[in-house]
Amino acid sequence: MSELFTKGAGYEVICALEQAGYEAVFVGGAVRDYLLGNAAKDIDVATSAEPYEVKAVFRNTIDVGIAHGTILVLFEGEPIEVTTFRTEGTYTDHRRPDKVQFVKSLHEDLLRRDFTMNAIALTKEGQLVDPFGGREDMENHCIRAVGNPADRFKEDALRMLRAIRFSSVLNFTIEKETLLAICNYAEQIRHVSIERLKIEMDKLFMGMNPVNAFQYMGKSGLDIHLPLIPSKRDNLQRAIPFATAVEGWVYLTIEGEFHPSEMAKVYKLSNNERHIISSVIELYEKRTVRAFTIEDYYLYELDELKMVEKFFRTFQQNCSFIDDDEIEKRKTALPIHSIKDLAVNGTDLIQWAALKGGQWTGEWIKKIEFAVLHQTCKNEPTQIKEWFCYEFNREN
Ligand code: ATP
Ligand code: MG
Repeated sequence: MSELFTKGAGYEVICALEQAGYEAVFVGGAVRDYLLGNAAKDIDVATSAEPYEVKAVFRNTIDVGIAHGTILVLFEGEPIEVTTFRTEGTYTDHRRPDKVQFVKSLHEDLLRRDFTMNAIALTKEGQLVDPFGGREDMENHCIRAVGNPADRFKEDALRMLRAIRFSSVLNFTIEKETLLAICNYAEQIRHVSIERLKIEMDKLFMGMNPVNAFQYMGKSGLDIHLPLIPSKRDNLQRAIPFATAVEGWVYLTIEGEFHPSEMAKVYKLSNNERHIISSVIELYEKRTVRAFTIEDYYLYELDELKMVEKFFRTFQQNCSFIDDDEIEKRKTALPIHSIKDLAVNGTDLIQWAALKGGQWTGEWIKKIEFAVLHQTCKNEPTQIKEWFCYEFNREN
């Protein structure tokens, strides 16, 4: 068994809960990923102990979702999510189940989970509890809802998008009945909060096979009911793999000819994501009509330049491109990389012109920046002084 489950914080948390007389097991994505031979990320523990009982066992806990049975245990500083065995009703607000009921049996807890591969528990001794054939489904690369798929999607429509994101992340197929239920209930996705959709879309973009996922979206009609998913995705194959989730958002924006601020607003993208998308699209539009200029190399980040060229390659065929190394070489070769690199400042200009500082100072710093950038003048104090004194006298 992986060391993740035989020592470390998750293991210790389970030992402590068992010692206190409760049942406790590993569940969720970590167990699935371990069985698939993939690196597991965060560890989730499920337990028969109720939240107040979990809190009594550990010194350091945070109530992250106590009403829904989740306590974050900080074990020697490492956070482990511990959730009480529970069942859940429907999600009227499409965010959280209306009411959860704590239960004593692990089996009942596994029943409320979305897919068979996500409904497997692992004891600290390495025993698997797999009541719905999750392992077999995983061997067959199959995503199958636990129980009746239609009922499960009616309870929580997000599960439809989760099935599709797993088809990208794991490159699995969606089982027939499960897919049919997505076709039948696709419209229900409209009620799910955008924050929950965004999390799944980010994971979909970063998966092994986004093409698979978008094909399922098209086949099931889920794409029609999700905001700002372009109906034609002809360039997707050439756009993947996405190096970051932001690249996925840029792809959708360009393919669908959406406005970046609309994409950012609708999906509540972070300020950082917003900034990257709008810079990249702004430069992409320029790039479609001309090559990168010296100003582009100067004003845009290296990652942005590379992303723009990647999408230029993706969307504009039969054009000449430059590769990443060349972009980097050209950016590195600039005489300055920001105004801070200028060899002179406003005080120097004031001294040379023998005038009081004012608006003119900033304006002339800009002119010097331009001259240095375009190599009209070397970034060196005596040369700049010579250039400045000549040009300044000519204009005044
Ligand atoms: P990831 O590796 O991306 O974190 P995950 O399967 O761990 O994938 P989480 O969102 O972290 O996904 O959820 C943890 C577990 O909780 C899932 O494996 C599944 O058992 C259960 N789960 C999560 N969301 C739902 C849902 N909407 N409906 C039913 N069960 C869910
Ligand atoms: Mg997880």
